[in-house]
Amino acid sequence: MVHSPIEEIKSRIDIVDLVGSYIRLQKAGANFKALCPFHNERTASFNVSPARQIWHCFGCSKGGDIFQFIKEIEGMDFPEALMLLADRAGVVITREDPALRSERNRLLALMEEATKFFEANLAIGLPLGNPIAKYLHQRGLKDETIKEFRLGYAPDEWRALSTHLAAKRFTSAEMEKAGLAVGRRQTRTDTQTNADGYDRFRGRIMFPIFDYQGRAIAFGGRVFPERDHEAKYINSPETPLYQKSKILYGLHRAKSEIFKTGQVVVVEGYMDMMMAYQAGVRNVVASSGTAFGIDQMQILRRLCDRLAVAFDMDIAGQAAADRSIQLALQSGFDITVMDLGAYKDPADAVRADPVFFQNAASSARHIVQFYIDHALRLHAPHTPEGKRACERMVLPVVASLSSELERAHWVRILSDLLRIGEDVLWRTLARLRSGSGAPQEREVFTDSQHTPSRKDLLEERILGMLASSPTLAAQYLAHLNDALFGNDRLPILLHLRGKAALADSARAALGRIVLESDSMLESITDVDGEFQHSCHELQKEYIKERMGELSAAISRAEQAASPKLQELLLEFQEFSQQLSQLNT
Ligand SMILES: [Zn+2]
Repeated sequence: MVHSPIEEIKSRIDIVDLVGSYIRLQKAGANFKALCPFHNERTASFNVSPARQIWHCFGCSKGGDIFQFIKEIEGMDFPEALMLLADRAGVVITREDPALRSERNRLLALMEEATKFFEANLAIGLPLGNPIAKYLHQRGLKDETIKEFRLGYAPDEWRALSTHLAAKRFTSAEMEKAGLAVGRRQTRTDTQTNADGYDRFRGRIMFPIFDYQGRAIAFGGRVFPERDHEAKYINSPETPLYQKSKILYGLHRAKSEIFKTGQVVVVEGYMDMMMAYQAGVRNVVASSGTAFGIDQMQILRRLCDRLAVAFDMDIAGQAAADRSIQLALQSGFDITVMDLGAYKDPADAVRADPVFFQNAASSARHIVQFYIDHALRLHAPHTPEGKRACERMVLPVVASLSSELERAHWVRILSDLLRIGEDVLWRTLARLRSGSGAPQEREVFTDSQHTPSRKDLLEERILGMLASSPTLAAQYLAHLNDALFGNDRLPILLHLRGKAALADSARAALGRIVLESDSMLESITDVDGEFQHSCHELQKEYIKERMGELSAAISRAEQAASPKLQELLLEFQEFSQQLSQLNT
């Protein structure tokens, strides 16, 4: 029997491995649980079933198979997800498939070509010490790091890259879309305007910016040689491939180590990131100068729960109010602060003393402790000045902690240290939390469905138990009355009997139902009794529903003096008798 590529891929990739490579899964009975990567939550409602090879989130109702997961988490369309998983599974899919020729793939190929072009330009004469390589070496980068992060050079010419890409059959419209060419006149056709556009990056050392998979999607360019009239750094604009707020520099290299250690070290610039990585701190990413946003925070939160930052001591006071730190605390991160001593940034520290930096990363202090130390550098804790410094610097940080237990822990410590009653500290915290838009759990629900009725829930329960338990299925599946099931769930019943394929929406519903049932079945002992009871209750709900319909029909028939009235009354009576039998 010939498998379709999709079936072949599904048979080769285990959903637990796949999902587990993105987020931290914890075993829960037969299934796995995690914090949902698709909505903001603090208690795990994301479930993965290895037996069924499906996932479902009870918080945001997303769910499906491995393809659905990749589409959601990578923001891909189906053909892209198919390619990614085919690669992973070692299944060959012919590239001629028209569904796979998406614009994104064209742009990714273009960016890869550009990266190679820049790399080749830097490599020319690299061992002989060309000035660019010399500059990078002076900054502390080793050749292997330069290669690993694929640094390159954009020649100081107007159209070096454009010409190269045109020879590779990329259009100037595509170059512009990828953010690599500018100045093309819109009024003419592509072929005519080819010469009109020019390269965005000229005379610059190029730092490719990679997506989670390690594909180049943008560039940062540092001017070289120095020129007075030009910006030191320029970056790619936002493109269909590159959304600044969702990218962390270096994550493609650091992700597995972040996942493994449960901690991420966040630094500011590309150089800081590469230098730290080179020094053996491999769980490091750079925020690339911009403020850390909620999207980036969520990407990291999927991988780990501890975050280490390095502050410049002179601006530490300002950093307390920093939105990024607040956001990280509110996302539930445990934050520690690295002490860089006299060094001005991580790159500086690594260059001078790689071992010092490694130690600083592993011995980072809890952020509250860091601020306590900082506030009390100049004043004894029980002096009025010391108390004020703590109120100003430390309490706002404590107020942002997402865990009540953790807040209590620090209140206790501060109370002892400052010799102030805990009640006073709690009052101050309450004021800070209410005043500053204090952390609130932001749950996002897609509440498009109506509230399920008791009958809906019973149908789901029965179908779930049948899908979860082969014993129940063997005994009851064939004998269930189809009429008991509503339009949304009848297809699932038929599917379980092996008689119908499922539409996507029903498939998602089945996933949710089965996962709910799995966890329910673990907690009950008399599975058969529970099942029969559910069927009994469903029958009652069905009869009540029919009686409701009938009584409406009866009053209509009465008003219209319809000849059908007698028939309807008899039917109503029959149902009513059935119901009283069921109730005894
Ligand atoms: Zn969710």
